[in-house]
Amino acid sequence: MAPEYLLWAAVLYVGAAVGSFLNVVIHRVPLGESVVKPRSRCPACRTTIAWYDNIPVLSWLALRGKCRGCGTGISGRYPFIEFITALIALVLFARLGLSIAFGVQFAFSCALIVVAYIDLDHQIIPDKISLPGIVLGLLAAIPGGMPAMTDAVLGVLLGGGLLLTVAWVYERSTGREGMGGGDVKLLAMIGAFLGWQGVLLTLLLGSLLGSAIGLVLMASQGADRKLAIPFGPFLSLGALVTLFWGHAIVRWYISYAGLAEI
Ligand SMILES: [Zn+2]
Repeated sequence: MAPEYLLWAAVLYVGAAVGSFLNVVIHRVPLGESVVKPRSRCPACRTTIAWYDNIPVLSWLALRGKCRGCGTGISGRYPFIEFITALIALVLFARLGLSIAFGVQFAFSCALIVVAYIDLDHQIIPDKISLPGIVLGLLAAIPGGMPAMTDAVLGVLLGGGLLLTVAWVYERSTGREGMGGGDVKLLAMIGAFLGWQGVLLTLLLGSLLGSAIGLVLMASQGADRKLAIPFGPFLSLGALVTLFWGHAIVRWYISYAGLAEI
């Protein structure tokens, strides 16, 4: 039996390597390119990136955020996504050990990261991520899974239905299209993994985060009310917060509202 710390180190490394792959997915999927071939290149000078310059987080630090070939800056977003993915893998491993639940929740977290950044870059949420996500979430809920199957199915229906209703009311009252179909499918996917209870908390958190950041942006960039801020990143962040702290938030709310004494 290998020492415990080796297992932790392996989880951390695999997490960072998956994060590195997520960077590729975020970059290539919206362009319709393969995520397997070719190897990564510098977008400026087209030099293929050597394996030793492609080690998660560490290579970026060693190169001080610049391409070895041409010196063009490499966005700090790459090591950030690698770091966050590794951190999520570590926290899930601490909570669940090496289990099916670990695999499912890690895959869900990865999908949320990918969706958030693709939506930020292109204002789209690819069906290629959200539709298989709905299926995986429902499969994972099969007997004994988390959440229970009925909660997961209700989550998909509520997630899809809620946003469809909001979008319909918004369009009827303003005559403008406010929310894309991508958001609807994303919230349906979130429902498959977190159940209907998780959908409600995600929508609440996502709306709060979105309004807060929207107000800050409007204040700093002049009051353009039609400023297009994609909703997907906030839904994704809300879903991650719900995945990690949902139970704690609900417990806090119940005790805060004094509902526990009823
Ligand atoms: Zn270069």
